[in-house]
Amino acid sequence: MEPCARFFLKPMGERHNFSYTVRAMEKIIVLAEKPSVGREIARVLGCHRRQRGYCEGGRYIVTWAMGHLVELAEPAAYNPAYKRWSLSSLPMLPAEMKLQVIPRTKDQYDQISSLLKRPDAFSVVIATDAGREGELVARWILQTAGWKGPVQRLWISSQTDSAIEEGFKNLIPGEVYEHLFQAAETRAEADWIVGMNVTRTLTCRHDTPLSAGRVQTPTLAMIVEREEEIEKFTGSEYFTVKADFEGIRGSWKGADKSGKITDQSKAEEIARSAEGQTGKVLSVQREEKTEQPPLAYDLTELQREANLRLEFSAKKTLDVLQGLYERHKIVTYPRTDSRYLSNDIVPTLPARLLALQQTPYGREAKEVLAMNTALDARLVNDRKVTDHHAIIPTEEPPRMGSLSADESALYELIVRRFLEVLSPSCRYQTVKLSIEAAGERFEASASEVKQPGWKQYSLRSALQDSGEAEELSSAIGSLKEGELRSVSSVEVKREYTRPPARYTEATLLSAMEHAGRFIEDARLKRSIAGSGIGTPATRADIIEKLLAKYYIEREGRYLKPTAKGRELIHTVPGELRSPELTARWEERLARIAQGDEEPKAFSRDIRRRTEELVSDIKASTAVFSPDYPDAVTCPACGGQMMRVQGKKDQVITVCQSLSCGYEEMNGKPTKKAKAMERRAVKQHAADRSSSDTATFADLIKASQERKQRKRR
Ligand SMILES: [Zn+2]
Repeated sequence: MEPCARFFLKPMGERHNFSYTVRAMEKIIVLAEKPSVGREIARVLGCHRRQRGYCEGGRYIVTWAMGHLVELAEPAAYNPAYKRWSLSSLPMLPAEMKLQVIPRTKDQYDQISSLLKRPDAFSVVIATDAGREGELVARWILQTAGWKGPVQRLWISSQTDSAIEEGFKNLIPGEVYEHLFQAAETRAEADWIVGMNVTRTLTCRHDTPLSAGRVQTPTLAMIVEREEEIEKFTGSEYFTVKADFEGIRGSWKGADKSGKITDQSKAEEIARSAEGQTGKVLSVQREEKTEQPPLAYDLTELQREANLRLEFSAKKTLDVLQGLYERHKIVTYPRTDSRYLSNDIVPTLPARLLALQQTPYGREAKEVLAMNTALDARLVNDRKVTDHHAIIPTEEPPRMGSLSADESALYELIVRRFLEVLSPSCRYQTVKLSIEAAGERFEASASEVKQPGWKQYSLRSALQDSGEAEELSSAIGSLKEGELRSVSSVEVKREYTRPPARYTEATLLSAMEHAGRFIEDARLKRSIAGSGIGTPATRADIIEKLLAKYYIEREGRYLKPTAKGRELIHTVPGELRSPELTARWEERLARIAQGDEEPKAFSRDIRRRTEELVSDIKASTAVFSPDYPDAVTCPACGGQMMRVQGKKDQVITVCQSLSCGYEEMNGKPTKKAKAMERRAVKQHAADRSSSDTATFADLIKASQERKQRKRR
């Protein structure tokens, strides 16, 4: 079958142009990421015949994955010896990675595979999520199904009907995304090689279920280090002096310009001497200032804001956002790392503002439209838009009534930021003055907004917490140098230095994004300044993983390490703890995606590094003995049990000895623990040599010894 050039250029054209009838029997298979999106594309393309797992029309057949349908094979696929976890079979470094169909969703894979084998299947359009992971979803399916025909890519930044139609008119040759696919596949392999090997080595070496990974371990290390800084912190008290000069509150400043006084008697002495005196205004400095609007949202920034303002977890923001994008079609592509718009978006901005007419932001949108602010490179910058532009509203008018409370709160953030970035700077005036009384110097400052600009569209709370300066009062506005003011009252305040704060999800996301800052080597720090650890699309998952494995837990909005998480960080090789290695790898993966580096060299390095990590852990003399608070002794093996808070607030106690694994929920053995007991009793019956009066603990011990013999 030879490809037809015209066909590639205008695949939508055939609906109106019958010069293509020669190929009428040939179908184009469109592969979407998930059923909901697939059905929408099918509707737009006019594929009305719904079948199991796909929709068929005259020209197109639209089918869908359900996220990944194919994954990297389990270790046992390479070597039967890998089935058992044992130190002797590590490291596992397959030269070529294998793929396997995920059993749970095999039906859908089979459906796609049989569509691809149809004699009339002429070409494929990859319509999965327009990003790295989406590319991998599609390519692995096509590869496993043995597809050799032409491939094109649908690359769109919103899910509206017009965006889908436009996208199908401008399909991109599949080869264009070859490098992206290579980077995605290389990353998946690196995660497998590092994760599988390090996790197994740590677990076998310390006889307790431990896991580590390229991104999760340095992230955990940051949380642990912060906790230790907090513990080491020794607070100290200091004093400040504030004086009231007829309505103007001045803060005492020392010669070093600091207002902190360590000696209480000195603070009291200053207060006494100023009391009842007359102050003289030494200087008044007035300054006109402007504050530019913030940059538009990329995913990480939106997750930070939503955590700060709505207390959403990073994962929740991504989930809610995905619904706004796919189901409601009212925001653009979520998993973007760009905070800019490209020039081709500019002509669509009025339509996006008009779409807000029937919403609570209608009046404000109209105002912004009328302002017609000149857009500068802080917003429109083609060079800073790679795969997708920043997150903004689409031209689709939202039906506010159909949004859930979470959706509408997140949508508000996106709309407000959109209005802000299209508005002029905020102009304000600041006044700083210094007053002398009894030979002591006091300072006061205030500010007044002259033109609110973008700030009038911010959330109210945003306005309130911006700027520490007091509102400009009439008292301070007209003040002149040399004026005299009597001191009406003086106050001495006792204050304390504060330890660094624990991470919230918002601050942890920033720390991950700028992990380069945590690197000590100055030269290396410069070279990886731009790349953090993880990618915008994966950071939420990493945080969830650390929570699920009980390495960290939430305390209100804050994240803190568990005893297990802390001990893990003390046990793993330093190289795995530091963000350095990960950030360096991340940078190389970005180069692979650009086509600037061959994946082969990277894969070789990953394997070599993993080999070193495994031998480091094997040779290490570190002992894994976490200091569990209110430790519980395991009734089965006498080992230590860790107490954790379950998702639904149940108290779960899990034995930390790998060969035991006994667990209780709310003080009662779980089903798993009961099954363990039954197995042990059975084993005992089969084992004639052991004493008949053996307790459960004896049985567990015997089973552990058997397991350990095997492992050696
Ligand atoms: Zn136990």
